[in-house]
Amino acid sequence: MNLYTKIPKVDQLLDNDKIKKLLEKNSKNLVMECIHEELNHVRNMISKKENEDLILKYIENLSSNIEKKLNYKKEFKLKKVINATGVVIHTNLGRSALNEEIFNNVKNVSIGYSNLEYDLEKGTRGSRYSHLTDSIKKITAAEDCIVVNNNAAAVMLILSTMAKGKNVITSRSELVEIGGSFRIPDVCRESGAELKEVGTTNKTHLSDYENAIDENTAALFKVHQSNFKIFGFTESVSSVEMKSLKEKYNIPIIEDLGSGVLIDLSKYGLTHEPTVQECIQNGVDVVSFSGDKLLGGVQAGIIVGKKEYIEKMKKNQLTRALRVDKFTISALEVVFSYYIDENIAIKKIPTLKMLTISSSDLYEKAKKLINSFDKNDEFSFDIIDIDSEVGGGSLPTQNLPSKAVRVFSKSFSENDLEVFLRKRKIPIISRIFKGHLIFDVRTIFEDEFSLINDALNSLLGD
Ligand SMILES: *Cc1c(COP(=O)(O)O)cnc(C)c1O
Repeated sequence: MNLYTKIPKVDQLLDNDKIKKLLEKNSKNLVMECIHEELNHVRNMISKKENEDLILKYIENLSSNIEKKLNYKKEFKLKKVINATGVVIHTNLGRSALNEEIFNNVKNVSIGYSNLEYDLEKGTRGSRYSHLTDSIKKITAAEDCIVVNNNAAAVMLILSTMAKGKNVITSRSELVEIGGSFRIPDVCRESGAELKEVGTTNKTHLSDYENAIDENTAALFKVHQSNFKIFGFTESVSSVEMKSLKEKYNIPIIEDLGSGVLIDLSKYGLTHEPTVQECIQNGVDVVSFSGDKLLGGVQAGIIVGKKEYIEKMKKNQLTRALRVDKFTISALEVVFSYYIDENIAIKKIPTLKMLTISSSDLYEKAKKLINSFDKNDEFSFDIIDIDSEVGGGSLPTQNLPSKAVRVFSKSFSENDLEVFLRKRKIPIISRIFKGHLIFDVRTIFEDEFSLINDALNSLLGD
């Protein structure tokens, strides 16, 4: 059979009721684009000699396929997904989730105008950085602060301001690569600072730093290892120990903390991470950290430390290129307001809440998820123990016992289910564990339960 003769003409399609309806609500260009793409798709199927029945069926459903294509094109490409992976700070899924209160402040500030750079007291031009200064200073006990686009930008700005044309001394064990090709040696080079590597992969002594100091040394530079840990015969120099060198040679200490932890996580059963406050207390002159990792806010790089250095950073031309907008500032202002009281921070910041939820609460959540599913013959469920991950290169060795709902299906393989859920209009990102699809409930919000139920129901035959 010559299948090409079965392909309808464009005019015929334009006469089809379904297409006519599409034309009422959409631009003719968009509808035509979808028609042409679908017709090309059919021609391709024929030239690739695909199954004849399949091709005929596709042609029979052509107007529906055109409608589907059009709806897909009209969807926004960046969209909400449901994170059922259990990875809390999932960089591919937007890192930290916000709560409604944070979002409402962003909305309130951005629909219409704001005093972003306007001093309401004086009626003159103000500084966008001023809005966050008081709370960050209060929480961290630092002299001053500045917020830029992300922590990578923060490190760049610090080195460019404090060490351009000079050298900084860093331990070989801290020359890390963070996902997305952020490498400490490369960032250093880009900022115009020379990196002086000292020590070995596993051991660096105070004397290694001291021996490397010369008249061109701008700073001692510590970097959090973030996404890896080394064990065994190891030694590193803490910022407290560095203090003696700082005083003897009169050079500052810079620390890239990576994740911005403001509370002692060991109180909540997690590994202790050096907090920003500890760094400042230990005499680190300038500390930088991310806004959307353990801090639980939005993408930002926060720099705190001595006023003399921060002042210089504010005058650096780079700052103009790295500056944050009102979305970031208005979101962070709410996030930092929570940190004034640690108990509130743990309760309100989704990232911290998800990391500190108890095992019994996770079990209850898993039960609730199963109970929210409609009963049918296709699917059944049980609850299993699973390990979640912190993610975002934070606390890489932290084990985080969690609960997951395991899916048993009569007709679908775990791989087919995974793909189907991922390609939904509101995608559900799940995991496959030992031959079964699972939903780790740690990172699923309760108001998303019904969406998972809808997705599973849509797989049932009628
Ligand atoms: C994550 C991280 C960065 C990069 O931070 P972004 O906010 O993602 O730009 C830099 N340094 C360290 C040590 C990190 O862990």
